[in-house]
Amino acid sequence: MTTYAPLPVTFERGEGVWLWDTKGERYLDAVAGVAVCNLGHAHPAVTEAICTQSKQLMHTSNLYGIANQERLGDALTSLSGMDSVFFSNSGAEANEAAIKLARLYGSKRNISNPTTVVMEQSFHGRTMATLTATGNRKVQAGFEPLLKGFVRIPYGDLDALEALSGNPDIVAVLVEPVQGEGGVNIPPSGYLSGIRALCDSNEWLMMTDEIQTGMGRTGRNFACQHEGVLPDVMTLAKGLGNGMPIGACLARGEAAELFAPGSHGSTFGGNPLACAAGLAVIDVMKSESIAESAEKLGEYISNKLFDALDSDDAVIAIRNLGCMIGIELAHPCTELVRMAFEQKLLINVTAERVVRLLPPLTMTYSEADQLCDTLASLIQQFLASQA
Ligand SMILES: *Cc1c(COP(=O)(O)O)cnc(C)c1O
Repeated sequence: MTTYAPLPVTFERGEGVWLWDTKGERYLDAVAGVAVCNLGHAHPAVTEAICTQSKQLMHTSNLYGIANQERLGDALTSLSGMDSVFFSNSGAEANEAAIKLARLYGSKRNISNPTTVVMEQSFHGRTMATLTATGNRKVQAGFEPLLKGFVRIPYGDLDALEALSGNPDIVAVLVEPVQGEGGVNIPPSGYLSGIRALCDSNEWLMMTDEIQTGMGRTGRNFACQHEGVLPDVMTLAKGLGNGMPIGACLARGEAAELFAPGSHGSTFGGNPLACAAGLAVIDVMKSESIAESAEKLGEYISNKLFDALDSDDAVIAIRNLGCMIGIELAHPCTELVRMAFEQKLLINVTAERVVRLLPPLTMTYSEADQLCDTLASLIQQFLASQA
């Protein structure tokens, strides 16, 4: 079904930040499969783990113990400070688990209309619950009736959240530490710790969607760690398997005790193969200090783009947290994706006017130079054509 409008190219091989198409042409990848291949394409440690595990055992279902799932659960809880993990196959499913936890939490407190606070411009996925939580009409249009039990406020606005204090229906706040699809929107500092404090005083669950920001992308293992904040629920996917489909819903304290046998599940979730990939990703993240590299690389790329582009009035802002990088222009610029593609550079545009870069976190500085040089001159050329 035509759910996407792909560029006219098919890739058949990848290595690090490079992709080769069926004609043997090489492309520099600054999208990384939408923040998925954080360690670069075909990372040898992940490939090795998948090959070894697939020869041994791929799937048994959650009707039996799964050693890799337990090991990955332990690795994720110790890395994040959370208590327990539910494994899914995608980001949307991880968020579904979080939304169900919020409702169970409400039902346990005899709240008849348990309501989750969500943000404008947010993105949480394409299933019915997650598209309802998403703050983008294009994602929702035509799929009504949407679900009940959500209330929406502006992103980055603690006063708007505080104004909901004492509302007896509210059970949880679902928030991205940085909005990715929404335009690489970075909230004011103190936002996450402010949400934490309001959740504590109101007994709301703080639920962070780290599907895009997690796994080292922003310069910390998880973006909440920039503010030393521990949420009650945290969702992961994208970079967790470096290309192997896997998601996770992590929970802490009371939220970690809500599901019981029968209340949630997944046939594929947490299978030995997907968890082998996740374990290899975490090993590489630790041994190669991926989060630290991402922080420096993101700084380097943003500074370089800033030096090249800042003098142009049509460049509204260059924002980054680690390797989530956004260049906001004054004009709609989806055309830049094709222009860059013609120069064998893969970039993304989101929220119509924001060039979004999500490079593999293992990109070298000379590859970053190549990315910045090509992109800066393309943006200059594009803006000149708009003037
Ligand atoms: C990509 C994304 C999702 C959805 O993940 P899928 O694996 O596509 O279901 C949810 N939330 C955020 C913040 C994302 O970036």
